[in-house]
Amino acid sequence: MNISFDLDSTLIPNGKEFETEKRNGIAKLLGIEEIRKGTDELISDLQRQGHKVHIYTTSFRTKGKIRRTLKYYGIKVNRIVTQTENQKVLKSRNINSSKYPPAFDFDLHIDDLKGVGIESERFDFKVIIVDPTDKNWIGKINSEIKQLTNT
Ligand SMILES: [Mg+2]
Repeated sequence: MNISFDLDSTLIPNGKEFETEKRNGIAKLLGIEEIRKGTDELISDLQRQGHKVHIYTTSFRTKGKIRRTLKYYGIKVNRIVTQTENQKVLKSRNINSSKYPPAFDFDLHIDDLKGVGIESERFDFKVIIVDPTDKNWIGKINSEIKQLTNT
C-alpha cells in the first residue's frame, strides 16, 4: 500500500502533546525538527512489510527541510506532498477538501485531525485518525493496517 503521514501533531509536535526522539544541539541549530517517539521504527517496519511511505502535509515547509529532518532520524520516504502542490492539484480537480490522498495515489492516510476523518467519509478515502496524546498510536496504526490488508 501507499501510506501517507501527516506531519503536524501526527509526527511532529505542535507543543508538548507527545514524547519525542532525542535531538542534539547542532541538529536544533540546523533546523532539524523534533519527531514523535517511535516514528523511525514504525516507518521502517511498514517499509519492511512492503509498503511505500509518503508525507502529505498542508504545511508550507519546503520538501528539502522535511527530508533533512527525516534523514536526521534515519527515515527515508518516497514522496512528499506539501501544501503548495496539494492546493494546486486539488484546485485543478475541483476537489473542495483540505486533503484528498487519492489525488496522489495514496491508498491510506494517517492524520490527527477529525476533520480529515469527516472528509474521508465525504470523499471516500481511507484514513486512520490518531490522537496526538494516544500512547498506543503505533499499535493502533499497525492493527488497522493489518485489518485493511487482510480484507
Ligand atoms: Mg496534523
